[in-house]
Amino acid sequence: MKAHTYHLWTIGCQMNEADAWRAAAMLEAAGYRPAGHARDAEFLLLGTCVVRQQAEDKILSRLKYVEELKRAEPSRTVALMGCFVGFRAGAEDGLRARFPYVDLFVPPSATGQLASWLAARAGGPAENAGACGGEPPPLPDSLAGGRTVRAHLPVVLGCSHACAYCIIPYRRGPERSRPAAEVLAEARALADRGVRELVLLGQIIDRYGLDLGPGAMLLPELLRNAAAIPGVRRVRFLTSHPNWITDDLLEAVADTPGLMPYFEIPVQAGSDAVLAAMRRGYTAARYEELVARIRARIPGAGISTDLIVGFPGETEAQFEESLALMRRVDPDMIRVAKYSPRPQTLSARTMPDDVPPEEKERRRVAIETQLRAMLEAKHAPRLGGTEEILVERIEPGGRRHGRTPDSIPVFVDGSDARPGDLIRTKTVWAGPFSFIAVPA
Ligand code: SAH
Repeated sequence: MKAHTYHLWTIGCQMNEADAWRAAAMLEAAGYRPAGHARDAEFLLLGTCVVRQQAEDKILSRLKYVEELKRAEPSRTVALMGCFVGFRAGAEDGLRARFPYVDLFVPPSATGQLASWLAARAGGPAENAGACGGEPPPLPDSLAGGRTVRAHLPVVLGCSHACAYCIIPYRRGPERSRPAAEVLAEARALADRGVRELVLLGQIIDRYGLDLGPGAMLLPELLRNAAAIPGVRRVRFLTSHPNWITDDLLEAVADTPGLMPYFEIPVQAGSDAVLAAMRRGYTAARYEELVARIRARIPGAGISTDLIVGFPGETEAQFEESLALMRRVDPDMIRVAKYSPRPQTLSARTMPDDVPPEEKERRRVAIETQLRAMLEAKHAPRLGGTEEILVERIEPGGRRHGRTPDSIPVFVDGSDARPGDLIRTKTVWAGPFSFIAVPA
């Protein structure tokens, strides 16, 4: 074990990743350096996700390993952060009893607690003392892991929608937008540190500002301002709920250079009965209309969606409505999840998890198989075409990696571009999930 080293292990969504990344940046600001492996690190930082049971299982097995490391070297510090901890005061007490070897429990987006701990350790006053749940994470002084080109910036914390299946509101607390001035100051500071692509995050990002009172800046204006920051080449935003995408937002995406034509809009199901049971607040037809409206206003826009298979009571016919809706909507990506009952949620409390695991798996595979075929067909015409790529990193062996405006990953051979450069490429292989290209 080396003094003043840390190791970050994190799973889950971009929001979790952003929280964990900030915590790592704070440790770096306090003089810690990354250790290549957990067993060498003095400070073990774990970012956690509980959106599905599978994620929770991963945390529990990781914690077993961490317990061994702590036992071997009790002077280590173990910090557990994110949705496994949750935002409610007192949530820690139960966790402390279960995991006595964990030193520090950090609720989602509440890196202020880590700041207090670091300040106490350094013997100084705690700058962010007591910060929790609602307070924005502090701005990192240095960036962890060399991920400087693309940064995730949480702008709406928590969620108040309460979809029947979703644990996030119980762990991240109610929805609260961060003030625009604070978000934009942080965006400028990130750009000064070399960030070229900003990804603004929220569980329902398209509700940004609606909780800040009359006259508050809303998402379209926030995005325009972010895209105008010197040094910022690209801005993205996720995740959108279908009910809150406005024409103003589409206008902003259509007419703002640097604001990428890319939307993440989870649909979750193709059957209106299932959508109603999920408490999503729209019908399949409305989702289709929305996608048509986006494509009419922004030709070539990338649309990514999430889909849950095996929600309680989902019949074979209802599942087939999901398959059919996906064929009609023809999205550019689908992230499929098998339904997993989560504590406290409406569905876990009131609806039996009655689709057998092997049937959920069959439905997942059916969606994935259809998606692959759809994307192969959709991407074929882009072979030989040109794309604009923001280079994010250099792979071992020299390949450049970046994304198209509509967020397809591209690997570029024979380029000497640096991370952060915008380059034009010619596509030499157009696969379903990524492209291979050469400089154009
Ligand atoms: N507000 C975000 C939610 C993030 S959770 C959004 O709308 O995308 C990411 C995805 O996980 C959800 O879109 C959903 O498809 C999936 N998910 C959430 N809870 C789930 C559960 N209990 N079982 C299976 N998948 C779930």
